[in-house]
Amino acid sequence: STIVDLVKVSKTYHPDTQALVDISLNVCQGEILFLTGVSGAGKTTLLRLISHIERPTKGMIEVAGIDLGKLPRNKIHLLRRKVGTAYQDFKLLSDRTVADNIAIAMEVIYRPSSHIEQRTRTLLDQLDLATKYNTRAGDLSRGEQQRVAIARAVANNPEIVLADEPTGNLDAETTARVMELFYQLNRQGTTLLIATHDRSLFADTGHRVIELRSGKIKSTVNRSLKNISE
Ligand code: ADP
Ligand code: ADP
Repeated sequence: STIVDLVKVSKTYHPDTQALVDISLNVCQGEILFLTGVSGAGKTTLLRLISHIERPTKGMIEVAGIDLGKLPRNKIHLLRRKVGTAYQDFKLLSDRTVADNIAIAMEVIYRPSSHIEQRTRTLLDQLDLATKYNTRAGDLSRGEQQRVAIARAVANNPEIVLADEPTGNLDAETTARVMELFYQLNRQGTTLLIATHDRSLFADTGHRVIELRSGKIKSTVNRSLKNISE
């Protein structure tokens, strides 16, 4: 079934930058979909529209059964619980510890502290950050901050994870760890949208790859039967 549905979506930034032009796209529940394309192609804008950080100029977007155009402000938290985002402006609280930054995501949904601590340690272990548990987020390298942002995005096991260049600041070994975490979540049912210009992340994986160019879908690789009507 469809978990993200875009119908004829356009986004124009003031005054006249056409970041996305008439994009129609659906993502199946449990799919891993890669978005690629050169810098400026529209990848970030597409993710920001799906997470309701930006609003489309035209078109319809539905995420996990929620029509974003009809979502009242006081219901936005319902969407935030279903969608985890790891974007490039990490938005970490730099004066708080790594553990605090990850815990905040779980505290807002009232997970017990024993669960929060265990989940945080597991994620930090998986992302090779175990020794940074009590480090101020502001003292981390960019690559480390990026991984904390990823841990925070997935901490609550959201239905959908949106990741923008999640491995942009990482070496090969750490990239492999991040991708292993994503694949593990996917095996548990999480749908993933990953924007990247790193072809090695998706080459030969068999997952669908959509290439954007000047705000349009230039090509689709590995279009599955489920999406043949697209
Ligand atoms: P990508 O993620 O593929 O690099 P973006 O979605 O960031 O592409 O950008 C698409 C286009 O929209 C680019 O021309 C970019 O300069 C423009 N753009 C992105 N965000 C804004 C913004 N907030 N205001 C104006 N233009 C923007
Ligand atoms: P990278 O090699 O990824 O660019 P850095 O050279 O920035 O990383 O940092 C190397 C290590 O030193 C990292 O583990 C980082 O967390 C730590 N570090 C960097 N700056 C500080 C700081 N001001 N206080 C404490 N630890 C720091």
